[in-house]
Amino acid sequence: MDTPLPTSPLPTSMPIAGHIDPVVTARDITARADGRVDLLGLPRPRIAEIFAEAGLEPKQAKLRAKQVYHWIYHRGVTDFEAMTDIAKTMRPWLAERFVIGRPEIVVSQHSEDGTRKWLLRTDDGHEFEMVFIPDADRGTLCVSSQVGCTLNCRFCHTGTMRLVRNLTPGEIVGQVMLARDALGEWPKAGQADLAALTDDLVDDEGGYSPDGRLLTNIVMMGMGEPLYNFDNVKGALKLVMDGDGLALSKRRITLSTSGVVPMMEKCGEEIGVNLAVSLHAVTKEVRDEIVPINRKYGIEELLQACADYPGASNSRRITFEYVMLKDKNDTDEHAHELVRLLRQYNLPAKVNLIPFNPWPGAIYECSTPERIRQFSNIIFEAGISAPVRTPRGRDIDAACGQLKTSAQKMSRAELDRLAEEKQAALG
Ligand code: SAH
Ligand code: SF4
Repeated sequence: MDTPLPTSPLPTSMPIAGHIDPVVTARDITARADGRVDLLGLPRPRIAEIFAEAGLEPKQAKLRAKQVYHWIYHRGVTDFEAMTDIAKTMRPWLAERFVIGRPEIVVSQHSEDGTRKWLLRTDDGHEFEMVFIPDADRGTLCVSSQVGCTLNCRFCHTGTMRLVRNLTPGEIVGQVMLARDALGEWPKAGQADLAALTDDLVDDEGGYSPDGRLLTNIVMMGMGEPLYNFDNVKGALKLVMDGDGLALSKRRITLSTSGVVPMMEKCGEEIGVNLAVSLHAVTKEVRDEIVPINRKYGIEELLQACADYPGASNSRRITFEYVMLKDKNDTDEHAHELVRLLRQYNLPAKVNLIPFNPWPGAIYECSTPERIRQFSNIIFEAGISAPVRTPRGRDIDAACGQLKTSAQKMSRAELDRLAEEKQAALG
């Protein structure tokens, strides 16, 4: 399915069927101007292959790949000189040919409520965002899968952007690496050795963050539709879940989809993470309007795919996201219909009610707090959990659906000023 990138800008108001097809970036590495190869995002066998192509004996290549992989994902090392178990003479050889990259940070912002947002840039100059949301008992990183999105959901700011391209596995896993850098979460030498020995400890990952705000969970809920960038998202999440990689449990990872039905089973089988589905409406009329992919894959088909999702169970329920839009999808009847549908398909479900986060030019309003409470009560009374998600990071436009490359919203002068402030803050 090598669909070429669209050559003309996509319309932002009325979506057209056909623009909701996958757009694939057929590469695993973004080319660098200096000719060196970025190892971040490559699986271990691929690193060994590249080392062999660069001239190492196959056995050597395999061993070096194992060592380098460990340094990259267990220690967060970006400098070959720091890889002390690799011969001193070997390190410059590696550094001449390879790098261990990170997405470049254009701006990082801190919300009053502790939420952090980063505007990042790929090596070829495309900007995207990631958000970190600290809570009392967890820290969640909201990761982007694409620059922009093809899907034009009417209430979503990202949906007003033209899709620029899919992110590579390195650019996706790079977000997690950057967050770990920023949070000071790489284990110190002793702890890393211990973690390497004990897999249970790796999963638990407690105790080594200096500021107590640990990155414990990942949600693929940033910019883009992850199931339209399946291979790269899979590649990145494999590195995140690998016990020899970042070693985060699949139970702590959630992938959110607007409903790319044909990819859902594959997602459960090949990635195996928790699933969240952006349902947002219970009638064809409303969902067709606000989530246009519904015209291609309707509600019944979507709910059947949820019922068939591999790994879903009462202990691993599917999250149904429901954005609360005033006078659009928020009546008592809508709530009752939601309950009926979840029961009809016998879904192990929880519902997440998201107050609509406004953005400049949005045509919807958020439902009133009373309406949201009433909606939530109806679902709770039917025995289905339906908490209202507290919006986080609203003051820095980091809340759900507010992500849109800030470069498009801020002038260059503003960006420079923010970058200077960042420098000053770093001392
Ligand atoms: N493309 C995927 C994942 C990214 S969107 C998806 O659509 O599921 C992450 C979540 O934020 C989705 O549930 C999306 O519907 C929701 N969202 C988008 N815009 C929003 C807004 N303005 N206010 C509240 N939630 C929004
Ligand atoms: Fe894309 Fe998700 Fe936004 Fe829809 S809600 S436009 S699928 S990012």
